[in-house]
Amino acid sequence: MEHKKSDELFERSKRLMPGGVNSPVRAFGAVNRNPVFIESAKGAYLYDADGNRYIDYVCSWGPGILGHADERVVEAVKRACEQGLTFGAPTEKEAVLAELIIELVPSVEKVRLVNSGTEAVMSAVRVARAYTGRDKIIKFRGCYHGHSDGLLVKAGSGVLTQSMPDSLGVPADYAKHTLVAEYNDAASVEALFGEYPDEIAAILAEPVAANMGVVPPEDGFLQKLRELADRYGALLIFDEVITGFRLGLGGAQESYGVMPDLTTLGKIVGGGMPLAAYGGKKECMDLVAPSGGVYQAGTLSGNPVAVTAGIETLRILEEEGRAIYPAIDAAAQRIAESVRRTFGNRVQVNRAGSLMSVFFTEHPVTDHASVMRSDAGQYAVYFQYMLEHGIYLAPSQYEAAFLSYAHGEAELAETCRVIENMPR
Ligand SMILES: *Cc1c(COP(=O)(O)O)cnc(C)c1O
Repeated sequence: MEHKKSDELFERSKRLMPGGVNSPVRAFGAVNRNPVFIESAKGAYLYDADGNRYIDYVCSWGPGILGHADERVVEAVKRACEQGLTFGAPTEKEAVLAELIIELVPSVEKVRLVNSGTEAVMSAVRVARAYTGRDKIIKFRGCYHGHSDGLLVKAGSGVLTQSMPDSLGVPADYAKHTLVAEYNDAASVEALFGEYPDEIAAILAEPVAANMGVVPPEDGFLQKLRELADRYGALLIFDEVITGFRLGLGGAQESYGVMPDLTTLGKIVGGGMPLAAYGGKKECMDLVAPSGGVYQAGTLSGNPVAVTAGIETLRILEEEGRAIYPAIDAAAQRIAESVRRTFGNRVQVNRAGSLMSVFFTEHPVTDHASVMRSDAGQYAVYFQYMLEHGIYLAPSQYEAAFLSYAHGEAELAETCRVIENMPR
């Protein structure tokens, strides 16, 4: 496979942007090769600058649940563009998207639209602090909640991938309010409440950890978080930026039957455009300006083009979800079985719905410590082989693979064939 143009573009971009990219994991540093530069995408496929075609298992890190450039979404976006790109004034479309979110996500009664998951989580934490009058929050080692100062503490995703313990430039004074617990270890959360019984505003969790690779919650873990939050007067925030509309129309809260006080959404909710949201109980959300004193604003918030992509995507999921979710879950299951067949007990395949990760370790992966026992070097070899054979995986051991509804029989069969032919 030729990568000449991608290599040239990477050299050029490195002179212009830090590391040649606008988001760190894209630089492929963790898999020891240059990134491929994408020219276009359609359905389950990516096409790079050298004309190579890949079956895509990143799906833009989650938004692409319908596959790339779904015609219905693209047509709606085109029409929206013609009506104006941004007004900085309210539109009916924002109400339509808010209604859809409130209808689909069980615990959300009121919602605010923002531009990125980072902003959504940062704002939800601010609301939790205002609501409780407390400063501290609990997050979990290896969970990622965007790049705001206070949440870049023991974070997952690119922070894990780049082996950065934390970020430079975060004042210790900001980070000191962030307490770190272990995922799937409710006792570690209880211990923090024991230490700071009336200082903790919220427990912030990815209900399925998906930014250290996929680590599903063990039975009862999320329920226990709910109980602890209630017992100590703290809020429970589910960061459903990945799991929202991915594990089902109602996200992880619906599939695991545990209701948070506040929910953050991103990725799928924007249908491929920069849009995210946070929402929850009315009494919490009414604290947000202009109805309350928690300031949060955005020049492009509720952008009509992004909102249109979100509405169209959620409507399709609502109408066809009964076909889509079982299909993408079964597709992930099929890939997982193929990997297990090929690598046997050298790998652990974790899966939650259509999210999955292949960890190169013989031991079950249930928390951050067991994630870190997996062999990222072996993952890099696996990644490179797959890429050279037309399968585009997440360029890091610590990121999830995402399935879309556009991954049909041909793509799944080809993917399994490549996996099973890999020399081991
Ligand atoms: C992607 C992600 C974010 C950050 O969203 P951005 O849109 O990249 O700012 C926050 N939380 C989780 C769980 C995510 O996966």
